[in-house]
Amino acid sequence: MAQAIAQLLKMKEIELEIFSPIHEIRHPLLNEKGIDLYLKRDDLIHPIISGNKWRKLKYTLLKARDEKQDHLVTFGGAYSNHLLATAAAAAQFGFKATGIVRGEEVTNDHLFLCSLYGMNLLFVDRESYRDKPSLFTRYFSNDANAFFIDEGGSSPEGAQGCSELMDELMHNYNHIFCACGTGTTAAGIINGINNNYLETEFHAIPVFKNGSFIANEIDKYLLKPSVYQLHTDYHFGGYAKTTPQLIGFIQQFVATTGILIDPVYTGKMLYAIFDLAGKNYFKRGSKILAIHTGGTWGLLGMKDKFLPFADK
Ligand SMILES: *Cc1c(COP(=O)(O)O)cnc(C)c1O
Repeated sequence: MAQAIAQLLKMKEIELEIFSPIHEIRHPLLNEKGIDLYLKRDDLIHPIISGNKWRKLKYTLLKARDEKQDHLVTFGGAYSNHLLATAAAAAQFGFKATGIVRGEEVTNDHLFLCSLYGMNLLFVDRESYRDKPSLFTRYFSNDANAFFIDEGGSSPEGAQGCSELMDELMHNYNHIFCACGTGTTAAGIINGINNNYLETEFHAIPVFKNGSFIANEIDKYLLKPSVYQLHTDYHFGGYAKTTPQLIGFIQQFVATTGILIDPVYTGKMLYAIFDLAGKNYFKRGSKILAIHTGGTWGLLGMKDKFLPFADK
């Protein structure tokens, strides 16, 4: 039965419908500074497949299908939005999936959903995790159908999918902001800005400490050299680290807009915009578009930061 279903799904077209409206965010500070802030709701593309992960997977899945490889093999930490996105997409489009997870075996909400979507999970120690191509060879050299997808979905195909975000805009914005992990989404958006001949200034918010290295990663996927702004001071201590200010900002944002944001990516990016606005970084009359890249499941892994809602 399961095999028959898998066979049927193999013929299923990989069709990625994009529902990502733009919503205005109102706030007294924005009023005072004469700024219009809009949020591109990529988080609404899919309840589980974090918005930019969906965009990043599109051409990757099409390539796997073209090459007749039906076993997606990818990598991530135990809270990786990319693992979860790959698991959900694999189930929807008839691929087998293996997630190679960094670190000792654990269980959490993310990995529970990955397994429910039928992803096979393989835990590897941190040392071996560093060399992904050699892990792929070690475990899957005998599997002619195995298709390598890098951590975070980072690839030229990933950037290509993200560039399509820019084709959906009906208005001009002076500034576009996006949170950066691998930098693939940022590169895609910059390519999209160039493809559409826009004057928009792009701003990347790395969510890691010492984030200036991300410029190399972004530049790797740019179709032509481009100028953009990198704001490296909004990491709040490092990847997945938070501060009481950041958590307070997120609580206030969610409670006053009804839009969930997470502490790892979109919370830091939106905090940056409000902080820069407070410092008069933007000209009056500026129109800003922030990309909500999804990732709201990340909130569930971080409940303990939101005292008094901690589990323990
Ligand atoms: C993965 C992720 C990012 C980072 O995207 P990159 O293309 O790796 O830079 C940003 N926001 C969210 C919510 C994510 O899950």
